[in-house]
Amino acid sequence: MAIESMAYIKDKKERESMAWFRNLSKLTTTIKASQRPKNKDPFLLLPSFTFLSHFSSSNPIEDKKPSTTKPIEHSSGLEPTKPNEKPRVVVLGSGWAGCRLMKGLDPHIYDIVCVSPRNHMVFTPLLASTCVGTLEFRSVAEPIGRIQPAISREPGSYFFLANCTGIDAHKHMVHCETVTDGEQTIDPWRFTISYDKLVIALGSQPSTFGIQGVKEHAIFLREVQHAQEIRRKLLLNLMLSDVPGITEEEKKRLLHCVVVGGGPTGVEFSGELSDFIMKDVRQRYTHVKDYIRVTLIEANEILSSFDDRLRLYATKQLTKSGVRLVRGIVKDVKAHKIILDDGTEVPYGLLVWSTGVGPSPIIHSLDLPKAPGGRIGVDEWLRVPSVQDVFSIGDCSGFVESTGRQTLPALAQVAERQGKYLAGLLNKIGKEGAGHANSEKEIEFGDPFVYKHLGSMATIGRYKALVDLRQSKEAKGLALAGIFSFFIWRSAYITRVISWRNRFYVFINWVTTLVFGRDISRL
Ligand SMILES: Cc1cc2nc3c(=O)[nH]c(=O)nc-3n(C[C@H](O)[C@H](O)[C@H](O)COP(=O)(O)OP(=O)(O)OC[C@H]3O[C@@H](n4cnc5c(N)ncnc54)[C@H](O)[C@@H]3O)c2cc1C
Repeated sequence: MAIESMAYIKDKKERESMAWFRNLSKLTTTIKASQRPKNKDPFLLLPSFTFLSHFSSSNPIEDKKPSTTKPIEHSSGLEPTKPNEKPRVVVLGSGWAGCRLMKGLDPHIYDIVCVSPRNHMVFTPLLASTCVGTLEFRSVAEPIGRIQPAISREPGSYFFLANCTGIDAHKHMVHCETVTDGEQTIDPWRFTISYDKLVIALGSQPSTFGIQGVKEHAIFLREVQHAQEIRRKLLLNLMLSDVPGITEEEKKRLLHCVVVGGGPTGVEFSGELSDFIMKDVRQRYTHVKDYIRVTLIEANEILSSFDDRLRLYATKQLTKSGVRLVRGIVKDVKAHKIILDDGTEVPYGLLVWSTGVGPSPIIHSLDLPKAPGGRIGVDEWLRVPSVQDVFSIGDCSGFVESTGRQTLPALAQVAERQGKYLAGLLNKIGKEGAGHANSEKEIEFGDPFVYKHLGSMATIGRYKALVDLRQSKEAKGLALAGIFSFFIWRSAYITRVISWRNRFYVFINWVTTLVFGRDISRL
């Protein structure tokens, strides 16, 4: 049975009946044009031709008759592989888990198909640094074709810029809808992909705890476009507050940056912001330098997973840097102010929300076994029980209760190691001739996945960082704070950046910022 988000279908139903017909005319024109010997615009025409030529022999667009009254929701896409073809691994998501998996998969054994609404992986630990210009956006985005070159080169491997909208585990099929730039470009359309092995690595979404106004007024920090939005808003507010005619009260509001959530991401962002204010705003926006403030709101302790001494150190350093720490629970978010549970009103010009993550609607909608907390349930080998050939890794997955294992934290180091483990497992399965759908029953899976926590790190601004190398909160181990930790933090992350190109970019960005200050142009 196709598993679909009903709300999703309802929202799009009307639009699709027309959109499908418009796509038909646009795409048939493209296909015909691509068959002309002299093609003047290869960028427009070739991709459509290549795309269709590797798909099912039936043209997914032309087969559908516009005269049907009911809108056609799915056109055919990649059909099941034949026994003499390479088996196909379909990877949903291009985050830490999905990308590490794709990097490790052997393209001689499998065709690899990735479905994701973004064509790159985001190196999230350095994302906060891009919001204030310490790093450039490109430095933290790694194109998928660089992570697994087979996706760009192999005839049966693809990257599809699309959202997965449902999974039919019994038919070994994934339902997708393309991501486009809206009606100015091309309307989205639906297609299906058959898989031999499916890996669900769809990540998570920010938790809002049902608080009204968060989605409308706050900015989350998860994607490069969020960092871009934060940077543009911060610089806009700085510039507007310098323009004649603005009231004192409005100036104070515009230059009040509020961060909700005192976990590593909220603290790192607050640290970056205070650095930006102390080093760059004070020099280059001298008229407004005394107005700009940062407030970090947290319901409990900041950095609750870190060693107590490190937390104390972080609290002192942040306060020294001018970050106001407020203990409180946000009750309501309005366009220009937030309201705390004790009734305090906090006006803001920029609001960044970073209060943890939970399963996204697509994960909720999938009719698959679930782990406590609503993530997709997996066994010790990261297989989804009760369905064949489906695996799940990263933030979207958790161990089913019967394994007796605890759900692992939503961390890049978990996602990355699960991706690496599963790539090895799938390669082994493929080498033993069980890569095709429904053929792995006789295979010995080997050692189950075991996670060993390597510790946590966080920067707090002013060239200071925390390094907590204990395996758990109760365990003993090294816990450091200060400038030395900052160099450990930077060395650790620059070596983790995926490509040499981005390592070089990050290094050059750090040196440029140190010598010339941050870039404050609002592009
Ligand atoms: C700012 C920030 C800093 C962080 N710092 C650290 C750190 O220092 N150390 C650490 O260990 N962890 C850190 N994390 C956490 C870490 O980034 C996550 O745990 C990690 O990204 C999880 O990887 P994932 O592959 O499961 O999910 P993600 O990396 O979130 O990837 C999910 C992928 O699924 C795609 N997707 C979503 N919906 C669909 C759909 N319907 N169809 C197809 N594709 C879809 C997304 O576009 C994305 O490509 C940080 C997170 C953030 C946001």
